[in-house]
Amino acid sequence: MILLPTSILSLVASASLVSASSRHETLYKDVVIVGGGASGAYAAVRLRDDYGKSIALIEKQDILGGMVDSYVDPDTKIPYDFGVKSFIDAGNAKGFFDRFNIPLGNASVVTVTTDYIDFTTGQVVQYDLPPFEDQMAAMAKFLAIVEPWETLMQPGYDHFPLPSAIPADLLLPYGEFITKHGLEAAIPLIYPTTGLGLGNMARETTMFVLQAFGASMARAFVGKQAQFVPASGRNQDLYDAIAADLADDVLYSSTVLASRRSKAGVSLTVRNHRTGQISQIHARRLLLAIEPTADNMAPFDLDRNERSTLGKFTYTNEYTGLVNNPDFVSGMSYFNVPASAAPDNYLVLPDPSFTARIDYIGGDNLFRVTVVGDESLDANGAKKLVQKDFATLLKAGRLQAATNGSRALNWVDFSAHGPMHARVSVKDVRDGFFQKLTALQGGRSTWWTGGAFSVNFQTTLWEYDELILPGILKGLD
Ligand SMILES: Cc1cc2nc3c(=O)[nH]c(=O)nc-3n(C[C@H](O)[C@H](O)[C@H](O)COP(=O)(O)OP(=O)(O)OC[C@H]3O[C@@H](n4cnc5c(N)ncnc54)[C@H](O)[C@@H]3O)c2cc1C
Repeated sequence: MILLPTSILSLVASASLVSASSRHETLYKDVVIVGGGASGAYAAVRLRDDYGKSIALIEKQDILGGMVDSYVDPDTKIPYDFGVKSFIDAGNAKGFFDRFNIPLGNASVVTVTTDYIDFTTGQVVQYDLPPFEDQMAAMAKFLAIVEPWETLMQPGYDHFPLPSAIPADLLLPYGEFITKHGLEAAIPLIYPTTGLGLGNMARETTMFVLQAFGASMARAFVGKQAQFVPASGRNQDLYDAIAADLADDVLYSSTVLASRRSKAGVSLTVRNHRTGQISQIHARRLLLAIEPTADNMAPFDLDRNERSTLGKFTYTNEYTGLVNNPDFVSGMSYFNVPASAAPDNYLVLPDPSFTARIDYIGGDNLFRVTVVGDESLDANGAKKLVQKDFATLLKAGRLQAATNGSRALNWVDFSAHGPMHARVSVKDVRDGFFQKLTALQGGRSTWWTGGAFSVNFQTTLWEYDELILPGILKGLD
């Protein structure tokens, strides 16, 4: 691979030349983006359509949208979202939908009856929820406490305090933080929505739990911040519209095999795993919009500093899917809590890996399954875990053991979100991790976005992209 000098790159990039043969093509671009989920797809649109830069977007799947999972019932044509549920109204989020002529509406709510069950035994847990007014009062109190810290970590960590100035509460184990402020009554709202993504959030460091459920979610609960979905009820509509817009500038079913990165630009070797086509992409900037795990980073010739910084992240693995066995009772939600959580130990939570919940979402007895795994749980392991829990629930009499039921789970759809909720140890935070992380931006012509550099909410990630765009664009005229 040969890296072209900047002067040559700038000439060819603006022309976006393509020389292609059937099995090999060479592309010259201003910016190459890897990952076509929330952060990568948004950045691609802004860079190409609004700033006039030539781009290539490399996406390993055959659609854009990442964690958005929209299933459409083939008979009724009704869509069911089993990944992303709704978009928080932040920044210019509504404007972004408007530009693709996507009308907005409210997320549909399916009323369910919840059974609290210890999935390890199948036994019912006598779990007494606080009165709803108490839950909401605790949520309002939670919001008042955490809101002042929001801009330290969102949309990115650029304003994260130096170690000596980090608010002490942010580094407490979350269980301690909640007890210290008397916020236990808010946990039955925080954990089941997004808090569970961290695994046992009570044991995690407060600042990372606030990244999963912080001020924006609390504002949404108390009615101070709106959420919306496409009026069609199909969240994938946004990313399909982006895909149509970006057209041939997206390389689907493709991953990077090797890279060279320097101050002068980047050179990526990309393979389409359906066709076998190899693309050589020379670009003046690289934007990485994928989780910076060791596996994902393997082709990117990380230097020692990048490797040691990014290598400090740990993750949980998330999986979601739809099942429709007749044994599940329509209108029920089966929610996993340890037996010792009874009657009101809201901070007693399961440790990963676990099936978090199985919820009726409508249609032909469709149930959404949420699995939170430790670092080693892969997609097969996640399916096996849910199968085991299904057998336990059946044996314990928690389901209706339909006569036409199968002992095997019927997966209607399944999605491996994989590693997310990147976090580091308290020691690393105190050692200035986030200053080191943000200092990676722009080094070796490489920029970074996505959950690990920002937070795991779609529209906040778009706000983070807005923050880094000026740096990416600098010198690209
Ligand atoms: C079950 C679930 C529900 C959620 N609900 C909501 C919600 O209601 N509202 C909300 O705002 N957020 C929600 N989120 C979080 C939100 O979807 C994520 O924070 C967001 O998608 C992260 O964006 P991203 O760009 O970092 O990664 P992703 O959206 O995951 O995008 C990464 C993309 O890169 C691709 N990719 C990965 N590796 C490679 C590679 N090596 N080469 C090429 N391509 C690659 C992937 O296929 C994917 O398309 C939810 C997440 C989950 C898991």
